Formats: sequence, structure tokens, C-alpha cells
Amino acid sequence: MSHVTRETLAAAAKRDLEAILQRGKPLTPKERLAIVPQEMPTQDPQVRRRTMSEVALGYTAEQSRLESLRCLQCRNAPCVEGCPVRIDIPAFVKAAGEGDIQAAIGIIKRNSLLPSVCGRVCPQETQCQENCTVGKALKDTAKAVAVGRIERFVADWEREQGKALPPSVKPETGRKVAVIGTGPASITVAADVRREGHQVVMFEAFHKPGGVMVYGIPEFRLPKRIVEAEISALQAMGVEVRTNFVIGRTRKLRDLLDKDGFDAAFVGTGAGLPKFMGIEGENLVGVFSANEYLTRVNLMKAHDFERADTPIFRSRVVAVLGGGNVAMDAARTAVRLGAEAVHIVYRRTEKEMPARIEEVGHAKEEGVIFHLLENAKRIVGDEQGLVTGMECLRYELGEPDASGRRRPVEVKGSEFIMPVDTVIVAIGNDSNPLIPRTTGGLQVTKWGNIIVDDTGKTSIDRIYAGGDIVLGAATVILAMGEGRRAAASINALLKG
Ligand SMILES: Cc1cc2nc3c(=O)[nH]c(=O)nc-3n(C[C@H](O)[C@H](O)[C@H](O)COP(=O)(O)OP(=O)(O)OC[C@H]3O[C@@H](n4cnc5c(N)ncnc54)[C@H](O)[C@@H]3O)c2cc1C
Repeated sequence: MSHVTRETLAAAAKRDLEAILQRGKPLTPKERLAIVPQEMPTQDPQVRRRTMSEVALGYTAEQSRLESLRCLQCRNAPCVEGCPVRIDIPAFVKAAGEGDIQAAIGIIKRNSLLPSVCGRVCPQETQCQENCTVGKALKDTAKAVAVGRIERFVADWEREQGKALPPSVKPETGRKVAVIGTGPASITVAADVRREGHQVVMFEAFHKPGGVMVYGIPEFRLPKRIVEAEISALQAMGVEVRTNFVIGRTRKLRDLLDKDGFDAAFVGTGAGLPKFMGIEGENLVGVFSANEYLTRVNLMKAHDFERADTPIFRSRVVAVLGGGNVAMDAARTAVRLGAEAVHIVYRRTEKEMPARIEEVGHAKEEGVIFHLLENAKRIVGDEQGLVTGMECLRYELGEPDASGRRRPVEVKGSEFIMPVDTVIVAIGNDSNPLIPRTTGGLQVTKWGNIIVDDTGKTSIDRIYAGGDIVLGAATVILAMGEGRRAAASINALLKG
């Protein structure tokens, strides 16, 4: 399919919007359904294969307004049901359709603190947009109102206009809260607790705050300046951010409460412990966890082969094991780092892939080769310990397993060798065990996730937790929802 430029999409939207506005009459539901769904302008795949800059360029003002006019303003708002933080979607989309962007962003911000991020990375197609009446009426969920793209447009507009002011802070209470981690769960807690006038100190193990939004999700999907703006807003509210500070090593969690004068703590340390396949050859040179690969590129600029302190391995042929967002991010990063061929190896079919449909589409456009119903059996190396290939097996789908997805079943005797020099394992992450291991009495599940009650409180008084450390590897919006719940509980505790 040939690439449609932003200019072409913008011109068509301008023309269609003008035609609607000139009529001066409210649109009927039938007319709303007839408006062409607005495509997201993107960089040409041939150009973006060699650059880290953002792939999706964002709607123009006319596209945002036109897309918003497709909304039927359903009374029962099924889209809101699908939103983990229950944004009043019909209201903000109505305001966007009327061109009142300030009102639109105001409505979103009542429930979501990071709309520029969520507008980019939320899996809307399985949340708000999955329930959209327009998609159902058109018998194609891909034609649902593009809630996320409109959200992104209004949030970017606010930031670019310099109108995104930090939330106001109530007078100082003298109470002090420690927030461990700086991902979306922790950012939400820090903002909500600081708003009430409590002092907030965030502790981050890495040298840069932002969590996975900074070290995991690549620049070409989520520009770092957006996350930096959110951290700056927290700092402008008076939140202190201490980086290179590992709770459990630099200082124990309990010491913060027992010795350092904190009245409460929130643990939002995420799921940063990569899982491996447990197959032969995983310790060869050229095998990475996706976490390491992405962190070294995103955070340590390891792809800057000339200047980086720890430049990354120059790969020729890369295999990425897995089918989620992390696998797509790793594969698309490898393309940008100059690999000649990048293969995604996934043991189910595309239908079962957990990655966002858009990300799979973008990966294909950028030349990533998909090997479905295949998986690695062992990784093969030479006498120097360098990866030379991967022995793979073919699979077919059997009966559904506990997850409801059809179980992949090995095809006996189907082994074959895939010649590669790099293998990136992207099959999921577990919770970081450091804090549970160094905090006596902190209860965790058998998977190592911290157990909380329905207020977000852990088994230890005054210690709360949320986000991936509680849910297991999940999503930005769910982490934010968890943060909001814990912040409300902390605020109630400190008020008492
Ligand atoms: C590559 C990748 C792509 C993803 N893509 C998407 C996507 O498209 N859409 C989506 O919704 N979600 C996506 N996710 C998942 C999403 O990013 C996470 O669900 C979310 O960031 C979890 O937020 P959190 O606040 O719980 O923790 P995190 O974002 O993981 O942040 C935790 C922070 O705590 C710090 N930390 C850990 N231990 C300590 C300690 N002992 N002391 C101090 N600090 C510590 C870590 O360094 C980190 O900065 C992706 C994840 C990855 C890895």
C-alpha cells in the first residue's frame, strides 16, 4: 500500500470540515456515520526505518475536529465503560468537535494525568474504541471513533501552546510521602498527594525518571520530551525527584518510615525483571533480554556507536522472540540500528498476538519479517561463544488454554535452523524482587507481585503499592488508575 502524506490527509480533512461547517445545521446520526474515518498521518516507512523520530505525526486541527464529529454522543456511553480511568469521552469529544480544545483537555484531565502519553500508547482498540457504537454500526471496530488520536491532539495542543500549567497545590501540611519509582503509577501518586499540600519525594533507581515510558517505550513511539514535561510539571509543584537511588540497596523501605520521617510510602517499582526461555544457548554473546536492549538504546544511547560509553552489539540478522508490544519495540529498534534483516518469531498466529494492531502494522511496513507458529528450541553459537543461529520448531494451534487462547502444539520433527547473530528475548517481565526481599512482612503473590487490599494498601501499615508491581506487566493507563486509588487512600490516611 502506498504511503499517504500528511499534507494529503490534511487537505482532505480541511475540505470535508469546511463543507460541514458551511451547512450550518447540526449533523444527523446518518451524516455522522458517513464522515470518513481520519487516518493517522505517519512518516514514510522508508524514511522512518533510519530515524528514531516519532512515527505517528498526529492529527491536524481539522482532522481532530472531523473525527470528533463522527461521535454519536450515545447516552449510555459504552466507550466510558471501556476506559480504565473512566474519562468522560463523549463530553471531551463533543468539545473537540466544536473546536473548543481547551474545554476538551480540561475534561480529560479530570480523570487522566498523562493524556499526551495515553493518547499515544493506550490500547484503545481493546478499551474505549472496542465498545464504540460507530464501529459497531459500521461493522468494523477499526472504524470506531479514534478517541486516542483526538486525546493526543488536544493534549499536544495544550502543551505546545504553553497552556499546560501544573496543578495548584494546597498549603503545606508538614506531612511527608515517599514515592518509590517514577513510572506512570508513581507520577500519578506524586501529583495527587502533592496537590493536597503534602511533601513528596520520589526515589528512582535509574539516572532518569519516567519508568518504562523513558527506558522501555522507544522515542519513535513516545518522544521523551513528553515524559520530561510531565516530570518538570511535578517538580514545578514542589515534588523532589532523587535519581540513582535504589530502595532496598541505597536505603531500605522501612527505614524511610521508621528513621527518615516519612508518614507513608508508595511502591510503584514496576515489572522490570525479564523472563527468559530457559533454552540452551541463552547465555551466548548476542542474546539480549528486550529490557536490556531497549534500556541500553533508550536510556544509554548505546546505538550512538561513536560516542556511547557502552555501545551496543552491531547486529546483522536479528530474531526477536515474542508477540507483544515489547517484541515490536525491540524489532523496530533493531531495524533502526541498521540490521539487514529482523525477524519476529511467535508461536501462535497474528490473531493471538498481544501487541497493538497498529504496532504490528507499523513493524510490517518497516520491513520486519513475521514467523508465526514458530518458536526457538535452542540458540546455536560458534567456538567463541557468539550466536550463529537459532534452531526453531514449527507449531500448530490446539485447544484453548487457561488464557482462552488456543494452545500452540509442537509439530514433531519440524526443526530447522534460522541463521541469526542476535536473539532478543521478549516473552514478558516479572516483578522486581528487590523490595519484597529486603522488606520483612511485605506480602507478595507466588509470582512476586505485591499484594494490596482494595485501597491499595500492602500488608504493612502506611505502605501502599500499585501499577505493574501489583498487576504484573500491564499498561500505562492501568498503572495510572492504581496510582490514583493509592493516592486517595494516602490522602485519607494523612487527613485522619
Ligand atoms: C517496551 C515496552 C513497551 C510497552 N508498551 C506499552 C504500550 O504501548 N502501551 C501501554 O499501555 N503499556 C505499554 N507497556 C507497559 C507499561 O509501560 C507499563 O505497564 C507501565 O509503565 C507500568 O507503570 P509503573 O508505574 O507500574 O512502573 P514502571 O513504568 O515500570 O516504572 C517503575 C520505575 O521504578 C523504578 N524502580 C524499580 N525498582 C526500584 C527500586 N528498588 N528503587 C527505586 N526505583 C526503582 C524503575 O527504574 C522504573 O523507573 C510497555 C512496556 C514495555 C517494557
